Amino acid sequence: WHLTRALPFIIDGKIIKWFGTNTDIDEQKQLQRQKDDFLGIASHELKTPVTSIKAYAQVLGAMLEKEGQNKKAELVLRMDSQVNRLTNLIGDLLDVTKINSGRLQFNKTWFDFNEAVKETVVDLQHTTQKHKLITYFGDVVKIHSDKDRIGQVITNLITNAIKYSPHTDEIIISTRVENNEAIVCVQDFGIGIAEDKLDKVFEQFYRVSGNKQHTFPGLGLGLYISAEIIKREGGRMWVNSVEGKGSTFCFSLPLNTDINN
Ligand code: ADP
Repeated sequence: WHLTRALPFIIDGKIIKWFGTNTDIDEQKQLQRQKDDFLGIASHELKTPVTSIKAYAQVLGAMLEKEGQNKKAELVLRMDSQVNRLTNLIGDLLDVTKINSGRLQFNKTWFDFNEAVKETVVDLQHTTQKHKLITYFGDVVKIHSDKDRIGQVITNLITNAIKYSPHTDEIIISTRVENNEAIVCVQDFGIGIAEDKLDKVFEQFYRVSGNKQHTFPGLGLGLYISAEIIKREGGRMWVNSVEGKGSTFCFSLPLNTDINN
């Protein structure tokens, strides 16, 4: 029902039933708000113990290494990397609640776009031995944006490229300047995405269906968060993909012409 007023159903001057209420929409909004509040509180509560576990694991790892107990230290290191995954998942849930309630904050500064991409690529290359991250940089430009948030988006695109390319090892990251925009693209040669699913991948909680859930874990939030960040920063995000051949995810950010000329 999308009626804004409750309508009485009248027969012989008697009200038989009220139907079509304005509470349906209000109720939906309220439910959505309750869901967002719950997500916000739950992820906030999860964050504290996970942060402690991480700190303890790091201390324990350092102690074991010092004692020369390398096998045990290696196990603790693996524990630490799983805790990092958990931290990222909780971070995504927190970001979604912030986006949904309009509380996502940006801390803007001027920075070199290519340098920011390079820093993220160098960090991520340390996380994979199998995949080779190849970079091509275009003109040097400065952008005015939230560097951490932009790093988060690039990280998301590259980790997806790695995750969804189990049988190929090259990932190409390129930047260019075009029509007053700084653009970065992340190209992989992995599983690709079917054409009819392409515009859905930026939706909240959307994951391309199939029995892949076990092979490729995730919550279906990374691209939604990334696209929202880019939208809020005045840019665009898009994807080209061929199923079975690979995908190219790109985003653009507006340039300030005064500074860059
Ligand atoms: P997640 O990876 O946690 O599922 P995302 O929001 O990052 O969430 O991505 C949404 C969906 O889009 C994924 O579940 C996957 O089906 C598809 N996808 C994203 N990036 C790629 C890629 N590089 N190659 C193939 N499919 C992708």
